[in-house]
Amino acid sequence: MSQRKADYLIVGQGIAGSWLAFELIERGLSVQVIDKGISETSSKRAAGIYNPITGRKMVKTWRAEDLFLDLEDHYLEKESLLGTKFLHPKSIYRPFRTIEDQNDWEGRMADGFFEPFLKDFYKNSIGLKDIQDPYGGILLDKCGYLDLPSFLDASKLFLQNKGMYEVKVFDFEKLSFEEQAIRYEDDVFEKIIFCDGFQSNPFWELPFRPVRGEIIDIKCDLNTDFIVNQGVFMIPKGDRVAVGSTYDHNNLSFEPQESGIKSLQERLKKLYTGDFDLLEARAGVRPATHDRKPYIGLHQKYKTLGIFNGFGTKGVSLTPYFAKHFVDFLLGNCELEEEVNVQRTI
Ligand SMILES: Cc1cc2nc3c(=O)[nH]c(=O)nc-3n(C[C@H](O)[C@H](O)[C@H](O)COP(=O)(O)OP(=O)(O)OC[C@H]3O[C@@H](n4cnc5c(N)ncnc54)[C@H](O)[C@@H]3O)c2cc1C
Repeated sequence: MSQRKADYLIVGQGIAGSWLAFELIERGLSVQVIDKGISETSSKRAAGIYNPITGRKMVKTWRAEDLFLDLEDHYLEKESLLGTKFLHPKSIYRPFRTIEDQNDWEGRMADGFFEPFLKDFYKNSIGLKDIQDPYGGILLDKCGYLDLPSFLDASKLFLQNKGMYEVKVFDFEKLSFEEQAIRYEDDVFEKIIFCDGFQSNPFWELPFRPVRGEIIDIKCDLNTDFIVNQGVFMIPKGDRVAVGSTYDHNNLSFEPQESGIKSLQERLKKLYTGDFDLLEARAGVRPATHDRKPYIGLHQKYKTLGIFNGFGTKGVSLTPYFAKHFVDFLLGNCELEEEVNVQRTI
């Protein structure tokens, strides 16, 4: 009879696996995390923005109140646990495109719809050098960006120091089912949870709708600390500005494409009329789903297998909240919300 290595084996340490590991450990469970340690992952390529008011039509994002009111507190807690800074709260300034856009916003604001995420409203340009905002814009609150590589590195180090981490490729051939448990190689676990992002996984045939995206880093003279967002986002990061991003459902390569870089540069020129130099480009594939909601839950047949995946374009804001919810479910404290339950795909 083998000894149990840990309660849970987590496959994949992107932002999803990291948050799930923290949540399980906080509830007193033991985990083992394995990750194949490659650079072509969604979390390593992401811009890391969290923003409660999104999209071309600028509406409150799905579950904004649940996700955003204490989102920054969750990351700040992890900053103090891990002794590393990775959260950068920053207001997002979103210029109006037209006078109609401005009027529309004024009307929508009157009914308090954007509370508590709106910081300010401007009818005239706020005078940021080379930013095109002739009709003013809105300033959003409870937003910013997460430096994902720093968050992932610090989380990995924390798990390594506890002896809970291994760099290796999970091999499906080495998995076997036991009564009330699951074995991987020589080790036995209560459950294995896949946080393996956009991958083919023989246990889950899910209607993912992956979306590739490019981001470029530029050097320019942007004299603001706000993230500016109209057509493209510009995130000031020290001596460079990150500009993104593109959306492509067809080409799922992790190599930045010339067409994507060009599209970003053209859209940038409509927002920012100053000179800029292209420093670097990167690309990644977002694990997006058929209905834009995550895939969370247990396998229909094998209750020792679970999944925590499909965070699409919003991994930064979705994973802390849903890690807590999933662990509540795993501990028998609640039912899984239907909207995110992976069983909805069957
Ligand atoms: C260009 C771009 C911009 C983005 N911008 C934002 C943004 O501004 N804000 C936001 O919230 N989100 C953004 N995203 C989306 C965000 O990156 C994702 O929601 C999030 O990273 C998904 O995380 P994940 O942990 O599920 O997957 P991943 O980050 O892909 O992690 C999966 C992990 O599993 C590991 N793995 C896979 N298979 C195996 C195996 N067999 N064995 C061992 N390990 C394995 C991989 O090595 C990887 O580390 C962006 C994504 C892209 C590509």
